[in-house]
Amino acid sequence: MYTGIPIIAANMDTVGTFEMAKVLCKFSLFTAIHKHYSLEQWKEFASQNPDCLEHLAASSGTGPSDFEQLEQILEAIPQVKYICLDVANGYSEHFVEFLKGVRKRFPQHTIMAGNVVTGEMVEELILSGADIIKVGIGPGSVCTTRKKTGVGYPQLSAVMECADAAHGLKGHIISDGGCSCPGDVAKAFGAGADFVMLGGMLAGHTESGGELIKRDGKKYKLFYGMSSEVAMKKYAGGVAEYRASEGKTVEVPFKGEVEHTIRDILGGIRSTCTYVGAAKLKELSRRTTFIRVTQQVNPIFGDES
Ligand code: 5GP
Repeated sequence: MYTGIPIIAANMDTVGTFEMAKVLCKFSLFTAIHKHYSLEQWKEFASQNPDCLEHLAASSGTGPSDFEQLEQILEAIPQVKYICLDVANGYSEHFVEFLKGVRKRFPQHTIMAGNVVTGEMVEELILSGADIIKVGIGPGSVCTTRKKTGVGYPQLSAVMECADAAHGLKGHIISDGGCSCPGDVAKAFGAGADFVMLGGMLAGHTESGGELIKRDGKKYKLFYGMSSEVAMKKYAGGVAEYRASEGKTVEVPFKGEVEHTIRDILGGIRSTCTYVGAAKLKELSRRTTFIRVTQQVNPIFGDES
């Protein structure tokens, strides 16, 4: 059973960093560590931060080298109990087979798997060995999948449908992508998400990855999708000619230490709970009604804060 605040830093190399994990674990938040750290870096972090390990997942794609690396990390650091299997398109037989293999090899670990957006696939992944299904195709702040491919699913609807499917099988879901403010995180929980994964909201901080840029007296941090040209150049030697990049690269105004953002998010959700009368997060979805609107904030003085 997971004990902690069910908010997860995304397994992007600009967000799911060891530096981020160190701060998040102090607040009992969770970090899906990105898959590009070496075994040596993992070992060093584990020896220096033994208390953080229960709040981490090791991430993997579905390549043979991914699996090998995952095995090495989990064997070397048995305190890491969570695995995050992440592919852009969870609707493939190869992914399901890969998941079954990981489940067989690690029967006791908690496996997060995705991404998908429909109840049927949530059920299939749970029946194939996953515990927590990552939900979201297209909502991400630096995702261009909808634009490049026309594929995607409205996130709130996806969360509602997938949560129903998962809970029917005693599984859980992560709402992954699309949160831009604490209110969105609260809405994800209200829609039935058991966990919420954040990329953009945690980007741009001291603890985030990505180059720090100074221009005209202002500071920015580079933030990019894991399928962006920048990421592909870094890890795959460039964008293959037959592929389109499905991620943006942006400069996020530097936000300082992530601790302040975390307090802002937690303060917001705590207040959501009091507004709707939920004694605990788990109760939030039973206290929530959604009403369709055309505008949610009053823009008269700008909608920045
Ligand atoms: P955010 O919280 O920034 O709105 O969304 C974060 C999520 O966006 C990540 O957890 C991941 O699922 C997704 N994501 C990250 N990089 C990319 C990318 O390059 N392309 C797409 N389509 N999605 C991405």
